[in-house]
Amino acid sequence: MTFSATILTLYPEMFPGPLGLSLSGDALARGIWSLEARNIRDHGIGRHRNVDDTPAGGGVGMVLRCDVMAAALDAAVTPDDLRPKLLMSPRGKPLTQGRVRELAAGPGAVIVCGRFEGVDERVIERRNLEEVSIGDYVLSGGEIAAIVLLDTCVRLLPGVMGKEASGHEESFEGNLLEYPQYTRPREWESRSIPDVLLNGNHAAIEKWRRAEAMRITKERRPDLLDKSS
Ligand code: SAM
Repeated sequence: MTFSATILTLYPEMFPGPLGLSLSGDALARGIWSLEARNIRDHGIGRHRNVDDTPAGGGVGMVLRCDVMAAALDAAVTPDDLRPKLLMSPRGKPLTQGRVRELAAGPGAVIVCGRFEGVDERVIERRNLEEVSIGDYVLSGGEIAAIVLLDTCVRLLPGVMGKEASGHEESFEGNLLEYPQYTRPREWESRSIPDVLLNGNHAAIEKWRRAEAMRITKERRPDLLDKSS
């Protein structure tokens, strides 16, 4: 099964962007996943293909119209499409590695990228959009957030990462951040690679890595240690 991503955006030229390079780009070229970027403006109203209007109740900025967004979604998705429909949104549930794993195990995603002040609430309700945030800050549009989400999913697809083990011990895979990594040269600017990593004692290496992962997590993200998964 190919992981299939459909993006609804006012800027389809932003795709594949960085997703066309490196791991995700190779995987795209090899057909491990597919990407379609559709222009919301194709469903705009009138000669100028308007997609937005002023907020009901007043206030600054513009809001993406529900009828335009629904038409864009309905044209992109058939009734038997089982992919989750996501709306990138700072109001959404924060994206976690757990949700990324679920998405990567599924058929793909339809991803709506907001712009301006966001989208009319009614289309979120009527088209069952799952709002997803990539962090507690505000981007100017959902495209970069969609790229982040897809990058996190694609690297987990079978055959994308070099070694099967890659990704298993990484930050957020358990409730610990990753231990420090080193490579050659052995000495650099009077700093050495810790001896334990060079003596071939795998049990000792494992123990050191776990202790370091715990130390770093306690220092930087003690909140992760309170979580069960
Ligand atoms: N008025 C909105 C609010 O205060 O929640 C912010 C709108 S933002 C300027 C425009 C679009 O960028 C949003 O509709 C969303 O698609 C995207 N966006 C901004 N920040 C995001 C975040 N942290 N995570 C995911 N998408 C985000």
